[in-house]
Amino acid sequence: MARKHVVGNWKMNGSAAAIDEVLDALQNQSFDASVSVCVPYPYLGQAVAKLKKSAIRVGAQNVSEYGDGAYTGEVSARMLKDIGCAEVIIGHSERRRYFAESDAAVAAKLARLLEVGLFAVVCVGETLAERDGGRAEAAIESQLAPLRALMARGASPERFCVAYEPIWAIGTGRAASLDQIASMHELIKRHLGASFSVLYGGSVKAGNASAILTLPAVDGVLVGGASLDAQEFADICRAAA
Ligand code: PEP
Repeated sequence: MARKHVVGNWKMNGSAAAIDEVLDALQNQSFDASVSVCVPYPYLGQAVAKLKKSAIRVGAQNVSEYGDGAYTGEVSARMLKDIGCAEVIIGHSERRRYFAESDAAVAAKLARLLEVGLFAVVCVGETLAERDGGRAEAAIESQLAPLRALMARGASPERFCVAYEPIWAIGTGRAASLDQIASMHELIKRHLGASFSVLYGGSVKAGNASAILTLPAVDGVLVGGASLDAQEFADICRAAA
């Protein structure tokens, strides 16, 4: 069985000192799971240096859909690879919502990451209105369509995973139920392949991680708020054994 994957998303939080503190607490721990922390851009170099001897990988939370060039304020996939990043979260619902990131932009970002050989964590998720209106599956299927198209053109399913993150579960303390998680993960695997890696995200904590990670269709978790606490994040990583 493949190792579970635990991804920490620190979002736009922290300072050089606070990030050092969390990394200090994590750097000497070893986990059976594959673990990564996705830190804000300014602290990526610091995290890469700090985790040089650790198996914990460093990731970013976004990437430009363009290659190097005249795109002021953007950060390219090549640059992230150059400084030692191993993976990148794309299509997070906060980016789709606050920065109008479209499915097409997410697919372009995925293509850039695949080009340079960086692993991608592609987030998909439905709103509460979509879930309550019985449209959750359709919403996820439409977000998967551009990924399927890339796969049809040769994108390797080994080089990226999908994180199913119901928007109503992110940062709310209300995780999806085990049934909801299992059925959506099974749907995603029906579309992308039975062995395709699907993570769950949305209010994962030390207290619910083990039940979620035990579901056969769950290949790992994407953790927001709880990943800022080194002790709780380490407990979640251990639950992914
Ligand atoms: C996230 O940021 O992707 C997330 C799942 O956040 P939280 O764990 O805080 O719900």
